[in-house]
Amino acid sequence: MEWRVELAEIEKRKRFFLEGEFKMDGIELDVGYCRFIEPIKVKMVVAKTKDGFTVGGYVKTALEHPCTRCLKPTRLEINGVIEALYLPESMRKNVKEERLETLKNIVYYHETEFDLSERIVEAIVVEVPEKVLCKPDCKGLCPFCGADLNEEENHVCDKMIDSVDSRFEALLKLKEKLKEVR
Ligand SMILES: [Zn+2]
Ligand SMILES: [Zn+2]
Repeated sequence: MEWRVELAEIEKRKRFFLEGEFKMDGIELDVGYCRFIEPIKVKMVVAKTKDGFTVGGYVKTALEHPCTRCLKPTRLEINGVIEALYLPESMRKNVKEERLETLKNIVYYHETEFDLSERIVEAIVVEVPEKVLCKPDCKGLCPFCGADLNEEENHVCDKMIDSVDSRFEALLKLKEKLKEVR
């Protein structure tokens, strides 16, 4: 399935659908590389407008994303929306308005061929929430030893005592050193 369209085709057909599977193994996110665990199904409609054209549609898939608290690979459903207005470069107004237009998803073009896969990736990325939890009450990991607190309900950490001790020791050493300097 090709996600490329040509301006001439849009002018001629006025309005048409693109439907199929988008091929991509995974995606680089803030948390790292996440792979797709379902096919990426896309439905799109391209429609000519007075000045340019619009692209609208849906993206449906699922990602394997680490749980924000315990890092366990977690299934994340993606139901993304594609919504973009393409306008010729000549219609670009001043720079001040540009930020607002980015929010409204206006794409200015000077080319005559478009790769709509950018819109698909964009629709997926904005659907990824800041927090992904393996379950709503995930207890996360012990900050001292990394033990999964979902599995060890009454975890008492011996590393915690260790790390407090060693920090205390380091502080004592530092104090002694300071004395020497004086
Ligand atoms: Zn979790
Ligand atoms: Zn621990």
